[in-house]
Amino acid sequence: MKNLTNNFDVIIIGGGFLGLSSAYELAKQGVRTLLLEAGDIGSGTSASCSGRAQVCEGHLDPLNIQLITDGLKRHETLEEELGQTYDWRKSGLFLIIRTQDSWNHWQNRASILTPAGIPTEVVDRKVLQKAEPNMNTNGLLGAVYAVEGMINPLKFSLAYAAAARRNGAIIQGNSQVTGFEMSNNRITAVQTKLGKFLCDTVAVMTGAWLPQTTKMANIELPICHTHAEAVVTEPIPAMIFNNVEISDFYATIHGKQRAVAIGVHPDLHGSVDITEAVTKTDQYHKRVSAWGITALAKELIQLYPFMDKVRVVRSWGRPTCFTPDEEPIIGWVPQLKNMYVAASLVETITAVPLLSEWMASSLQGKKPPSSLDQFSPSRFENGWSWN
Ligand SMILES: Cc1cc2nc3c(=O)[nH]c(=O)nc-3n(C[C@H](O)[C@H](O)[C@H](O)COP(=O)(O)OP(=O)(O)OC[C@H]3O[C@@H](n4cnc5c(N)ncnc54)[C@H](O)[C@@H]3O)c2cc1C
Repeated sequence: MKNLTNNFDVIIIGGGFLGLSSAYELAKQGVRTLLLEAGDIGSGTSASCSGRAQVCEGHLDPLNIQLITDGLKRHETLEEELGQTYDWRKSGLFLIIRTQDSWNHWQNRASILTPAGIPTEVVDRKVLQKAEPNMNTNGLLGAVYAVEGMINPLKFSLAYAAAARRNGAIIQGNSQVTGFEMSNNRITAVQTKLGKFLCDTVAVMTGAWLPQTTKMANIELPICHTHAEAVVTEPIPAMIFNNVEISDFYATIHGKQRAVAIGVHPDLHGSVDITEAVTKTDQYHKRVSAWGITALAKELIQLYPFMDKVRVVRSWGRPTCFTPDEEPIIGWVPQLKNMYVAASLVETITAVPLLSEWMASSLQGKKPPSSLDQFSPSRFENGWSWN
């Protein structure tokens, strides 16, 4: 590895969307940056996700709304800036509504989202059926409609990695961090099996693995994860025209040992990405289960009966993390002088182009244009509870 003995300004741990985009933003500003990723670039959760730049499913406070509206604008020019396409495009989204409670809930959300610049509409079953003629809408009340973004998540990860490298960052795969050297409440070096790296600041952006990573510096953070399974089909003729999800995703999976929250996303080449069979677990792995794939298939065929003849070509599972209040955790760890953490976003792809600029400012000791204090890990200093 090059620059083995160098002292870096910032060492980022984790080569997913958060780490890669931050490495790019830091390197662009001349910060000597090393990113250490345990596996291949994007091989944690990022490159395996559905690629939706979600717009209407997150928290409704001003900071989250700004991250969505301005994050989306940033995507419009980001491919050109990174010098590589990641298949950015717009897609219709239908969040199917099955209960009156969900209908009322979404009418209220739409009345907040639309004036805030995220046009969101609740439509009845007839409108849904017209837009998705091959869907079995029996028993559905209607859907929420919005326009969201879509990307290819592997290309997005690789575009950021390439642009970060071009700007001078070292992006190092297959370099698992195994420990820290510390002195006076500061991390002075990061250890890997390839050797140790000296640094001024450490940014831990290891997604669902974040609590494992900070634990090596004796920092406990309240992050859990669920294991989500997904499949992708062979290419089919155009039969599904929008992204389709359920409107009560979080209510469906919350607190359950196992749940299916069906999501259907046609890709640019005719394949359909289908998510998620979700299991509550403490384990980290990338496997799928007989239960998950069967349950996913059952819900899919209920929604799109013609899919029973379509073959699945690949399946996988990945962890997705969350905090007790389901807000992101972003900021300086209060117990140490130079450890920054970032994980657990709700609308990661939408927000990350803008958020990474702001995190790069924070990592240099500057104030970002909008305060990220509401995401600070210090909110858990006096304890937390999992409801
Ligand atoms: C099936 C599925 C579909 C999803 N769909 C969407 C979607 O459509 N839109 C959306 O916005 N989000 C989606 N998500 C969520 C999204 O994938 C995550 O929010 C996002 O990938 C998190 O990015 P990250 O950089 O925080 O973490 P990750 O991508 O997990 O990156 C963290 C990295 O840290 C590395 N690491 C861990 N420990 C160490 C160590 N000790 N040393 C070095 N490296 C280490 C890991 O290998 C990993 O690559 C989906 C998730 C799943 C599971």
